[in-house]
Parts: sequence; C-alpha cells; structure tokens
Amino acid sequence: MSQNQLTKCPACDHDVSLQARTCPNCGHPLRNQASPPPPPRPEREGQGLGFWGIVGAVVVAIIIASFL
Ligand SMILES: [Zn+2]
Repeated sequence: MSQNQLTKCPACDHDVSLQARTCPNCGHPLRNQASPPPPPRPEREGQGLGFWGIVGAVVVAIIIASFL
C-alpha cells in the first residue's frame, strides 16, 4: 500500500513520488517537500527601545525625586 506516496505531476499528470523534487517524466519541478520560509520580523526594536528607555529614565527619576 504505497499509493499514498504518489502524487500527480501538475504539468503532465504523471504519477510522481512525493520524495522526488522533479518529475521523472517531464522534469517539472515539484515543491511538495519545500518548507515555507520563516516570516519576516518587523525591526522596530531600535526605536521602541529608545522610547521606552526615555520613559523608564523619567519614571526612575520621578521615583528617586519622591524619596528626596
Ligand atoms: Zn511531469
């Protein structure tokens, strides 16, 4: 029972193994084994860190001033 290891080539409709990267009949590239690329990260850490750094410094300054 190895029928589930076969797929159809989208180009020539030939039975192709899921392990194959290209169709052995027509050479059409198969992407069933390709892993999706990781999603890009939004890089806003520099601006965010600077903003919260200033807020943190102000909060610390207020806390220190309240003890004086
Ligand atoms: Zn093919």
